[in-house]
Amino acid sequence: LISRKWKVEPTCIDLGDGVVIGEGQFSIMAGPCSIESEKQIELVVQHLVENDVKIMRGGVFKPRSSPYAFRGLGLEGLQLFHRICREHGIKIITEVMQVSQIEDMIDYVDVFQVGARNSQNFNLLDALGEAQKPVLLKRGISGTIEELLQAAEYIFSNGNEKIMLCERGIRGYENAYRNILDLNAVPVLKAKTHLPVIVDPSHGIGLRDYVEEMSLAAVMAGADGVIYETHQKPEEAFSDGQQTLNFKESERMIRRMRQAYNLR
Ligand code: PEP
Ligand code: MN
Repeated sequence: LISRKWKVEPTCIDLGDGVVIGEGQFSIMAGPCSIESEKQIELVVQHLVENDVKIMRGGVFKPRSSPYAFRGLGLEGLQLFHRICREHGIKIITEVMQVSQIEDMIDYVDVFQVGARNSQNFNLLDALGEAQKPVLLKRGISGTIEELLQAAEYIFSNGNEKIMLCERGIRGYENAYRNILDLNAVPVLKAKTHLPVIVDPSHGIGLRDYVEEMSLAAVMAGADGVIYETHQKPEEAFSDGQQTLNFKESERMIRRMRQAYNLR
């Protein structure tokens, strides 16, 4: 069902208020790795509004490698996130980690993110297929393109057609950076499916200094958008500070991505 053979026209996902994801526009989703405080949300929202970015990312349920690391503010954090974003017309994308969270989160979310670690959590995918909310599905840490497509098929076949696929880097032997951002996947996914393809350069390379270059490369590879991490003080971020842009870096990257998109 997600194949171009079944449907030729590209799928566009309408989040309301004129915010549409998919062919014909380049979507920017930006924000911190983790939602940390009211003040932080306000500062990020202000940065997004100043740069005409309509979608904010931020985790409240965090899949951390260590159980002792910060695991997010939970539902209360999401409600705060939602209140502030609504006041400024910003849409929300945040990660859902398990089936039981869907019901609690659904009224406060515009797009559910499925993280790399849950990319083949088939119960979660089935449940998201039944929930009529847009989903951004990340590629697994060692996931093949075929596995990503089959994961999307779980959601789609349960009746939810509002899916975007996300390349976020795969694990390889190289340790000069965090992951290997597989930009090959972008044209391949675009050819195989009618779904929008989003690139996450932050997790993809994992080092702040190279995020802009990889975002520009993603634009030219044909991505329908990017999702990346930005924070008012990356060195103080609760998670993923090493790959997070400050607002000045983020602003410059937004400008250059838009210029690049216009040349495509
Ligand atoms: C995130 O977006 O902060 C995240 C945990 O991403 P991933 O699932 O790609 O590691
Ligand atoms: Mn992160």
